[in-house]
Amino acid sequence: MTNIHRRAFIRAAGGVAALGATIGFPSLALGAARRVVVVGGGVGGSTIAKYLRKLDPTVAVTLIETKPSYTACLMSNEVLSGERTLESLTFGYDGLRRYGVEVVRDTAVGIDPVKKTVQTAGGKGFDYDACVVSPGIGFKWGAIEGYDEEVAETVPHAWNAGPQTQMLRSQIEAMPEGGRVIIVAPPNPFKCPPGPYERASQIAMYCKHHKPGAKIIILDPKDAFSKQGLYVEGWTKLYGYGTDNSMIEWVGAAGGGKVESLDPSTLTIQAEIEEFQGDVVNIIPPQKAGAIAFAADLVDGDWCPVDKRTFESLRHKDIYVLGDASSAAKMPKSAYAANSQAKVAAAAIVSRFHGLEPGDPTFVNTCYSVVGEEFGISVAAVYGLDAGTNTIEPVPNSGGVSPANASPEIRKREVSYAHSWFKNVINDMLE
Ligand SMILES: Cc1cc2nc3c(=O)[nH]c(=O)nc-3n(C[C@H](O)[C@H](O)[C@H](O)COP(=O)(O)OP(=O)(O)OC[C@H]3O[C@@H](n4cnc5c(N)ncnc54)[C@H](O)[C@@H]3O)c2cc1C
Repeated sequence: MTNIHRRAFIRAAGGVAALGATIGFPSLALGAARRVVVVGGGVGGSTIAKYLRKLDPTVAVTLIETKPSYTACLMSNEVLSGERTLESLTFGYDGLRRYGVEVVRDTAVGIDPVKKTVQTAGGKGFDYDACVVSPGIGFKWGAIEGYDEEVAETVPHAWNAGPQTQMLRSQIEAMPEGGRVIIVAPPNPFKCPPGPYERASQIAMYCKHHKPGAKIIILDPKDAFSKQGLYVEGWTKLYGYGTDNSMIEWVGAAGGGKVESLDPSTLTIQAEIEEFQGDVVNIIPPQKAGAIAFAADLVDGDWCPVDKRTFESLRHKDIYVLGDASSAAKMPKSAYAANSQAKVAAAAIVSRFHGLEPGDPTFVNTCYSVVGEEFGISVAAVYGLDAGTNTIEPVPNSGGVSPANASPEIRKREVSYAHSWFKNVINDMLE
């Protein structure tokens, strides 16, 4: 390793250590360049591609991504209120190319863990010394009778930002005055635990100004949800929650919120106790790891088990699984979690390339939700590794949720924190 490369490694590794990932520094010279193939250019994949190059510019990094650009799910609920456009959430990969990442537009269809090759739909094969898989989630189609991929063409899930988000926004805009939006929330675990409730809030924010007689009903198979107390506080203040005229109604498991079927021709939902009919229906289906995780035999059940010290798969050596697809309890499936895991895995991979043992990691997560124009809330935690149980545990007294009944100034400030967090995480991934 040249002095420049050694300095770059130490500088970048210092950044990771500052974020909590404790790693050793290289002391050995490298032989032939090592190759890392990253599958998926979302949060986890983009972050690790960049950080591998920052940690050790001698590592050759290839990123395989199906789409030509990245459209962030983060903040995509704000498209539904008209607060932002999809274009403002869409970013190219030139920033990664500037770090020397080779970005390939293709879809990985298989991984051979013996030959150490990733195969793509385009018929190519990419050899690796380490492979990183961060494909996000897939949907369990058919879990709700009558709701499948074809029906989703007109009854959007909008749980992967893009045309689905735009479709839901257009349907809400076209909804008659006094119309009814039904959101079907998924069971745990799923991508972005506070997301369905932020979605209801953002739709209410729009309706309050443009369709004041509208109602948003959340049908939920769960008895509780992320930041529930703070959401209820915001909904009560802003949307009359708990009164007969509440714009938002939440029906949890105990109230019969579990949905059994959909009749797409009438937008009628059969829930456990009652039938609900909507003018707009948004079903967020139950989830599992993205398809490549199944094709590459990385799953145990719905998700990919990993060694929480490194995020290396417990099923196949030298393959690392990040983000939503991984089984990373007790971290939530969030962008900040994927970003944090990517830095830990980058440090572990480069450490191994240099013959070093990966250190004990620390992870972070913060998740903001915008409940109204000037009403933001958040949850934050720092996590450490319990190597004995291979679990990621919150560090005691390290985080928490925003205070209950906080001043209007604090709530307003959290909205601007949410927006600046979004800019920062995008920069950290892609710039
Ligand atoms: C409405 C909504 C709001 C959200 N808001 C927040 C928020 O405020 N804060 C937060 O922290 N998180 C938020 N999230 C969650 C966050 O988006 C995810 O947790 C995060 O994107 C996970 O990163 P990932 O790398 O696992 O997957 P993704 O970011 O989903 O990336 C997966 C990528 O892999 C690609 N891919 C998949 N399979 C293949 C293949 N075989 N070959 C090539 N490419 C492939 C996909 O095209 C995609 O680009 C939100 C999610 C939603 C739905």
